[in-house]
Amino acid sequence: MVTSLDDAPNPAYICPYDMACSNLERAAQVLKLDAGIVTFLSVPRRVLTVAVPVRLDDGTLRIFAGHRVQHSNILGPYKGGTRFHPAVTLREISGLAMLMTWKCALLGIPYGGAKGGIAVDPRRLSLGELERLTRRYTTELIRDIGPQIDIPAPDVGTSSREMAWMMDTYSMSVGHAVPGVVTGKPLSIGGSKGRDLATGRGVLITVREALASLNLALAGATVAIQGFGKVGAAAALLLRQSGARVVAVSDGSGGITDPHGLDVEQLIEFTRAGGRLVNFGGAKPISNAELLTLPCDVLVPAALENQITEHNAHAIRARLVIEGANAPTTLEADHILEERGIIVLPDILANAGGVVVSYLEWVQGLSYLFWDEDKVNQELEKLMVEAYRRVERQTKALGLPWRLAAYTLAVGRVAEAFMHRGLYP
Ligand code: GLU
Repeated sequence: MVTSLDDAPNPAYICPYDMACSNLERAAQVLKLDAGIVTFLSVPRRVLTVAVPVRLDDGTLRIFAGHRVQHSNILGPYKGGTRFHPAVTLREISGLAMLMTWKCALLGIPYGGAKGGIAVDPRRLSLGELERLTRRYTTELIRDIGPQIDIPAPDVGTSSREMAWMMDTYSMSVGHAVPGVVTGKPLSIGGSKGRDLATGRGVLITVREALASLNLALAGATVAIQGFGKVGAAAALLLRQSGARVVAVSDGSGGITDPHGLDVEQLIEFTRAGGRLVNFGGAKPISNAELLTLPCDVLVPAALENQITEHNAHAIRARLVIEGANAPTTLEADHILEERGIIVLPDILANAGGVVVSYLEWVQGLSYLFWDEDKVNQELEKLMVEAYRRVERQTKALGLPWRLAAYTLAVGRVAEAFMHRGLYP
């Protein structure tokens, strides 16, 4: 089990925790925040690491390291996804938890921030092993989660299937159905319409607004998307349906490009049937690294962190970078892109569609009243566009890059709440 806060998978990897802390400090300087508050906000409130023993199908017993980091609950219950990925570390999860605090604060939804994860490659487990892993992990966290305490959701490597197991495990433990303990559930157990495409829809809204700010139309705009999972594939589909030209996509195997535009619907069918994009045929194969430096109007990194770094930021040829993933751009890359005049719409704004519809799902569940998809999408549109405009105004008013502007709004909101509430006791 790897549990140290200081482990890093490789020396070139820059941890989201360090990135989030640096951005917090920069925002705090702009806001002239008290140093004590900055320290307070840079440390997660609760850090949990649990052993997750699982009996594998071949009879062996394996122990996985499970984490849940609860960064802040100043504004409301802790909120954030659960990641199943072999590279998960406690430090990474701590950074992603902090990003959730800023994301929820920026969007004005009444949550704090958290993140969970297990260092595991879910593709190497059978369905039964995965279910036992998810249920035991939930059991280990049973006293630390709940609809008013901490509300997990899907993230990289998890989906509505895992949320259903988590909801059931929690509900069995307390003795009655508790849909509000997780979001991103299947519709039949209290999920929300529109949740599956929500992060992609948020990316679409951000791309559309950002192009409009540059007086560019979405119709005909060229977009390259790294990642073809819950975020990338949904964003590709919605962007194409809105008239944009998706010129490249990729998954873990590599990518494909066609300057005339890819048939995204066909690619979704192909990958749903188990196909890997490099084997698609009918479009030119490219590597993930090549995708990032293709000429296009909009680049959407929608996979993992540390994709745009000091090594490739000079070669990016997009006009706009819209962060579908969490922490895909390192601090050095941020500076380089800024100097080159490439606008970066940060993760805490651009990929917030997922947690916004998680919030709408939670609200619907607590009020026992479910909405049609149009109503969900309207509310998402409203919250995303309002947040976009707030950040745009802040960018202009203070002459800051978009990420820093977004951080000043988010950190400012949490700091203000902290000052009103005061320090207990
Ligand atoms: N995992 C998503 C994120 O990083 C969604 C989290 C949620 O819905 O709570 O924003």
